[in-house]
Amino acid sequence: MAILKVARLGHPILRKVAEAIPLNDIPSDNTQRLIKDMVETMREYNGLGLAAPQVHVSKKLLIFESKENPRYPNSEKIPLTIMINPEINILDQKKIKYWEGCLSVPDLKGEVERPSKVQLKYYDEYAQYHDVTLTGLSAIVVQHEYDHLIGKVFLDRMINFDNLSFLTEYQKYHIK
Ligand code: ZN
Repeated sequence: MAILKVARLGHPILRKVAEAIPLNDIPSDNTQRLIKDMVETMREYNGLGLAAPQVHVSKKLLIFESKENPRYPNSEKIPLTIMINPEINILDQKKIKYWEGCLSVPDLKGEVERPSKVQLKYYDEYAQYHDVTLTGLSAIVVQHEYDHLIGKVFLDRMINFDNLSFLTEYQKYHIK
């Protein structure tokens, strides 16, 4: 296993639309190693999620997990989830606000509003198909990571930049 280098904002790979992974490629050593390395990388840097373009691989693969996390204390817990070729549908336009950060946009936090309920259709690391409805923190995180697969970052989703903060100032002025 390896900790991968994370692409930072400005790297063109973060602005590309990622390619689908052929289903028969999911069990391959390459894909399985990439998944393991992404999990290790996300945990090393205390990310809530990670998408393959963030580790310089332009493929439709994202992961997320929330356990005890110093970057996001008091977060709702989410089991490790691996999504290959995800498709997203918004089920409820009612928005929820959340302070987002991103390993590719280090040290910045911004308040983003996203739909509160989404449907995800995807394949897992065993090439099993899933169709799930997500709400709460999972809905936010999956939309953030899905955005990376279509060349977007959370800054693109901010409507009001007044609260955009560095981490230290966020902790000082914006944590309730
Ligand atoms: Zn991100």
